[in-house]
Amino acid sequence: MTRIYPQIVVAKFGGTSVADFDAMNRSASIVLADQDVRLVVLSASAGVTNLLVELSAGLESGERTDKIETLRAIQYNIISRLSQPTAISQEIDHLLDNISRLAEEAASVSSTALNDALVSHGELMSSLLFVEVLRERGVETQWFDARKVIRTNDGFGCAEPMPAAIAELAEKQLRPRLEQALVITQGFIGSDAKGHTTTLGRGGSDYSASLFGEALHAARVDIWTDVAGIYTTDPRIVPQAQRMDNVTFSEASEMAAYGAKVLHPATMLPAMRKNIPVFVGSSKNPSAGGTLVCCHADNPPRYRALAVRRKQTLLKLHSLNTQPACVFLAEMFAVLSRHNTAIDLVTTSETSIALILNASGATSGDADSLTTSLLTELSSRCRVELETGLDLVTLIGNDLTQASGVCKDVFTELEKHHVRMICHGASDHTLCFLLPAASSDRAVKVLHRSLFE
Ligand code: ADP
Ligand code: ASP
Ligand code: MG
Repeated sequence: MTRIYPQIVVAKFGGTSVADFDAMNRSASIVLADQDVRLVVLSASAGVTNLLVELSAGLESGERTDKIETLRAIQYNIISRLSQPTAISQEIDHLLDNISRLAEEAASVSSTALNDALVSHGELMSSLLFVEVLRERGVETQWFDARKVIRTNDGFGCAEPMPAAIAELAEKQLRPRLEQALVITQGFIGSDAKGHTTTLGRGGSDYSASLFGEALHAARVDIWTDVAGIYTTDPRIVPQAQRMDNVTFSEASEMAAYGAKVLHPATMLPAMRKNIPVFVGSSKNPSAGGTLVCCHADNPPRYRALAVRRKQTLLKLHSLNTQPACVFLAEMFAVLSRHNTAIDLVTTSETSIALILNASGATSGDADSLTTSLLTELSSRCRVELETGLDLVTLIGNDLTQASGVCKDVFTELEKHHVRMICHGASDHTLCFLLPAASSDRAVKVLHRSLFE
């Protein structure tokens, strides 16, 4: 008898949660413990996407063989633990052959479309293996190709999803299957209108999960990772960081945008559009609980968290003549807009503009928005200065521009730091400052101690 599932929970498992056979089994147990979980969205096994990205850069034959052998070993570590490995090993061999062929092509032509086709194989392989793990546990499971639903533009490497098309495709292609069996699909990958494979940028599986959640009107999206929730800062930088039980969409969204890797920067957008709560927890330790992100949090604190975004570039533009500031600003922004430059933060003076350019987070290809043509055009109109080796540290909180004492709390602690730029005022939720990369972790530690511990 077909069971009607009144509510659908989408569960996403990241790379470490599907890294090997034991991790896959732990993740399978989490799925089976909640019968509302009808759709499982998977990342590639840990390390696999990095190897595929290296292959997509175009390697010499010897190096290619080494990387493909490493990929094969990761897959066969899992296959060798299955009771009936024959059928699935043939499918994985077929995908490894594809990888080999595409990597050879990537060595002779440079194409972002080819790169996405190559890099998508990580998620294709992990999802096939996860289906086998569940089948061997006696669970009725269907493998589903995410590219049938996640429709994007053709911005290979960091494609833009199209929510309306995704909703329509999910109704037709996916919902009927959810009534029949547990469905396992891939994060990170989609396809454009011509059917070419695209990717959503590094870490994009979180985004896929919330896009699926939005399209299916899910009751919740669960993000299972290697930490038991969202912490006051990256626990790798500050082991004393505290898990937050409940944060709002806007707080989580600011954290993700300013570098908290636990969530892809765009994850919260679909969830916010449909008001779908997002839970973040550890697949290694599910009983440790986690963080629930939703539209409301009780008594949101003044200071919520600290985030760091690495490898920032500061671009400074100095006017060469005495034109009014507004004319110089308009002229410079027109140039930046023509070149499609992703501008992130801006400060200005009477004669200069300082900008932080947001690295695209693209899967492969030129992640640098500072193209030669942009620099040439800017240099013909003003004096250009570039500074690299910087990290952006952001304090995320509430009513930061309304409260007094915020700057004192922050900058007293940073007395000995060389702060290169400060952005405060546009958003009530953030205070950002740029520091030399060598001192950013130290700054996060002292600020965390004084504001959170
Ligand atoms: P997955 O492969 O499951 O997607 P990621 O490595 O992308 O996992 O994200 C989890 C990592 O995010 C954690 O190991 C942690 O180091 C990092 N991280 C950064 N900021 C935070 C934060 N505020 N709270 C929790 N984890 C964070
Ligand atoms: N596998 C992809 C990556 O490593 C997507 C993801 O893990 O979310 O970037
Ligand atoms: Mg991730």
